[in-house]
Amino acid sequence: MHARWSKRWSAGAFAALVALAVLGAQQPERKRERTSPPGYDDTPMLPGQPWRVHDIKRPQPPLVRPGERLGDPPSDAIVLFDGKDLSHWHHRGRGPERGKILPPRWKVQDGYMEVVGGAGDLVSNEKFGDAQFHIEWAAPPVIEGSGQWRGNSGVLLMERYEIQVLDNWENPTYADGMAGAIYGQFPPLVNPARRPGEWQVFDIVFEAPRFEGERLVKPAYVTVFLNGVLLHHRQAIIGRMAHRRVGTYAPHEPEAPLALQDHDTAVRYRNIWVRRLKGYDER
Ligand code: MG
Repeated sequence: MHARWSKRWSAGAFAALVALAVLGAQQPERKRERTSPPGYDDTPMLPGQPWRVHDIKRPQPPLVRPGERLGDPPSDAIVLFDGKDLSHWHHRGRGPERGKILPPRWKVQDGYMEVVGGAGDLVSNEKFGDAQFHIEWAAPPVIEGSGQWRGNSGVLLMERYEIQVLDNWENPTYADGMAGAIYGQFPPLVNPARRPGEWQVFDIVFEAPRFEGERLVKPAYVTVFLNGVLLHHRQAIIGRMAHRRVGTYAPHEPEAPLALQDHDTAVRYRNIWVRRLKGYDER
């Protein structure tokens, strides 16, 4: 009897130990119990801020759950393309169909979308102002054309300000037209582009321009990473995208769609998500 009880007890204890070990593995390790005050109300005011240093009343930043793997959308992202359909996108009608909203005609297959030449730029249904964008793209795997006619597309922020998409692999072209360039304005700081057919990653932080009536009071600023490498660091944009001339600003709405350029080459896109940006302490 005693032996059986003991056997049961030891089996139970073993199970409890395993459970504790599993739980322990999931929890961050804690060693010493040292504490600090949750904040202060007797410290100096921060210059230009309505908060004290370490202010106990300052709101906590919202909790955002990051994606599992680097590049996966975090919990507060708006996913514009997850590889399945183009329900977040449309085309703008041109010529006799001007002003019309047309259903998306770019191809979707194997988890990516592909530019269909002549279908027109792909325009997001949602509009954005200040925002963080994650966009993955690949130039066509089969090399065709040269210079600006090789794997050309573009990320058109607010449908106006272009971060160039181009197959840069052993393909000379003007510096301010290379992949990651603020097209026609600033070349990328470096060229970290991959081979055609390989997936490449843009991470873009965009500050929308501000207008007061007809007057520009703050230009757009952009920070761009390509494949994790910095290409532009809060660079002021000169004006809207232009070819062979200097782009200028014209007043527009505070939020506008993201567009992907149809430059008649079969560039592919996948995993596109956006986070609207707010200031410190804003909700
Ligand atoms: Mg382009």
